[in-house]
Amino acid sequence: ANVVGNNNIWHQRASEIRPETRLFIDGQFVAAEGGATFDTVNPTNGTVIAAIAQGTRADVDLAVSAARKAFASGVWSRMAPRDRMAVLYRLADLIEQNAETFALLDSLDMGKPVADMLGYDVPQSVLTFRYLAEAIDKIEGAVTNTAHDALHMIVREPIGVVACIVPWNFPLMMAAWKVAPALATGNSVVLKPAEQSPLSALLLAQLFKDAGGPDGVFNVVNGYGEEVGAALGLHMGIDKIAFTGSTEVGKLMMVYSGQSNMKRVSTECGGKSPQIIMPDADLDAVIPYAVGGIFYNQGEVCSAGSRLLVHKTLVAEFTERFQDYARANVQVGDPLVEGVTMGPLVTATQAQQVRNYIKRGAEEGAKTAFTLEVPGELEGGNFVSPTLFGAVTPDMTIAREEVFGPVAALLSFETPEQAIQIANDTQYGLAASIWTRDLNTAHSMSRAVEAGIVWVNCYDHGDMTQPWGGYKQSGQGRDKCIEGMLAHTQTKSVWINLG
Ligand code: NAD
Repeated sequence: ANVVGNNNIWHQRASEIRPETRLFIDGQFVAAEGGATFDTVNPTNGTVIAAIAQGTRADVDLAVSAARKAFASGVWSRMAPRDRMAVLYRLADLIEQNAETFALLDSLDMGKPVADMLGYDVPQSVLTFRYLAEAIDKIEGAVTNTAHDALHMIVREPIGVVACIVPWNFPLMMAAWKVAPALATGNSVVLKPAEQSPLSALLLAQLFKDAGGPDGVFNVVNGYGEEVGAALGLHMGIDKIAFTGSTEVGKLMMVYSGQSNMKRVSTECGGKSPQIIMPDADLDAVIPYAVGGIFYNQGEVCSAGSRLLVHKTLVAEFTERFQDYARANVQVGDPLVEGVTMGPLVTATQAQQVRNYIKRGAEEGAKTAFTLEVPGELEGGNFVSPTLFGAVTPDMTIAREEVFGPVAALLSFETPEQAIQIANDTQYGLAASIWTRDLNTAHSMSRAVEAGIVWVNCYDHGDMTQPWGGYKQSGQGRDKCIEGMLAHTQTKSVWINLG
């Protein structure tokens, strides 16, 4: 039944939806200065959803100046912590009340199953605002132990204006992860969504205003990365960039900072995360996570478990069970249709890039161990066949580059040392998992693997207390967690002479 055009209640709502398309600056929805627009396209069938106001440098200037004015006024930055908390709690409630609209907006814009939005992205976004709101008046400074002729206070202050630059793979949730800690600590924000998924951020801005958020504190400028993203990165009026996206563009953010005002930069970038399956692993437990780790969200996940490092003795059984499970549980199709677990990739270009990786894998000698042909009726959308490659060696392109699609590489190993060597042989270091029943193996391997997040006997588990970020070229920031919140503050030492 997973056919594009199959009519259901979501299709009905999709045909009626009239999303906001303008920029949000200083508490108002406005057209872009130049009046230009760009189309945002539904990846399921290639139709235009809406023409979006295309921001330029002039709009960035307006947004930054509104954000600076709001910051300097103290209307948010010096608001009583509990009042700021109340606004963010109301915002969380409003996101929850608008769950179905958010679900539809992101699903239409980038192709993820609407059920995943309702079951994951929206509740996680709500939780992000609630957790960080709750922490607002729990963050403390310090009085240090000085000689009696001095009083030394260390206080935490907001940094100023934060540019949040986000990707398209979890449009609402990535915006929440970036915006919530910046706002909670009293900063003003200019949010730049990815040009592939501009819609949900505008509803978020509306709800911030409805929740009582002051004008100018939260601004949204849609537009292209090379234009709006670069203008923010280089802006002398921005004090911090909080970036999530590719490693390539993350590095650019650091360059922009050096070329302008040495603004703070935090980056959450790409990955090539290994799942290490030791000989004593419980395959019943492994298989759903091996399949879900690479096929969830069409494989468009920074922490996708894209390298499956399987002990030599288990390769045959693992491959067979992976296939069986995937065949029974992965349903490719229209993301608005119930039961579909994998939608189209975000754009035709992205889908083509992933197909090129699949071609390259075969050319370099990897063997297709599993693939699910995309049904013919889905042609016209950016659908890609989910694929597992076996007989992959560490030098192959599919073992080295972030595919950012539903393509996994199975590599085998013989010893724990060899597994760690292969796992760490990458420029990335976002996540990893170890599957074993042995406590010593779990401990020693989780310490040896170079990754910011290590799961043992699970994948993609966690809560808001978990620091989310990478080692090496997966970035140098941490989202969620108190550490991520504190990264939006700067410390001031106030030394008072009592002598
Ligand atoms: P991207 O780097 O192309 O774009 C990210 C953002 O940067 C977008 O808003 C884009 O418009 C902007 N941008 C692009 N070029 C720019 C430029 N020259 N100057 C300034 N800004 C520019 O990434 P993407 O394709 O949107 O997202 C996919 C990437 O994001 C993957 O590599 C994925 O691993 C990563 N990601 C990481 C995390 C994490 O937490 N580590 C989470 C989600 C996604």
